[in-house]
Amino acid sequence: MAIGVLAFQGSFNEHIAVLRRIGVKGVEIRKPEQLQNVAALIIPGGESTTMAKLAEFHNMFPALREFVKMGKPVWGTCAGLIFLANKVVGQKAGGQELVGGLDCTVHRNFFGSQIQSFEAEISVPHIADKEGGPPGFRGVFIRAPAILEVGPEVDVLAEVPVPDKVKNSDIAKEIQEVNPECLNKVAVAVKQGNLLGTAFHPELTADSRWHMYFVKMVNDQSEEAKIETETETET
Ligand code: GLN
Repeated sequence: MAIGVLAFQGSFNEHIAVLRRIGVKGVEIRKPEQLQNVAALIIPGGESTTMAKLAEFHNMFPALREFVKMGKPVWGTCAGLIFLANKVVGQKAGGQELVGGLDCTVHRNFFGSQIQSFEAEISVPHIADKEGGPPGFRGVFIRAPAILEVGPEVDVLAEVPVPDKVKNSDIAKEIQEVNPECLNKVAVAVKQGNLLGTAFHPELTADSRWHMYFVKMVNDQSEEAKIETETETET
């Protein structure tokens, strides 16, 4: 089985390249019926309004919602996280259609605009436990969202301290209204059953451990849909 990557817009090529690096086949998904041939799906980062418009034009939303409902593993990075959230707040939020399923409230542009993009070392004990390597991960945040509230079934996998620029910005008011605690530290990676969401872009780093973690989620979920790595196929 292969992993699908929603390929309308954004960093889908980069995700497919990381999957290739770890010996997993990534398949570009642009039509609803293509979801039948994959065990899991990655929704990449990009621009969520544009991605939603393209997905709507290609009639993807019913199939994406069905895929999530069936319990298939889905990982949303950045704009993909916005797609998966049940609720989105922040500037221009509400204008785009969502897939939903992930019981959380996401602020669409929590960390500000393009020029406020940054990199930060994130503590990822669960990744280090499962995949080895250092306890930290270099998170690349580009016009990044963040998770303001989570439901009872959602595990927070990583949090970051909130940069002063955010605390002193117009966005602070919007954050305060939903959850004032998020002005100190905020969740940037969450997991709810088969759904994984990261506000940053692991596909833009040389560290493949988040992709390996997701492949393990897929393999743990179903023996039948097991992802064949190239090394396994060869042996
Ligand atoms: N904040 C962006 C949006 O609303 C997402 C940015 C990203 O995916 N790098 O679409």
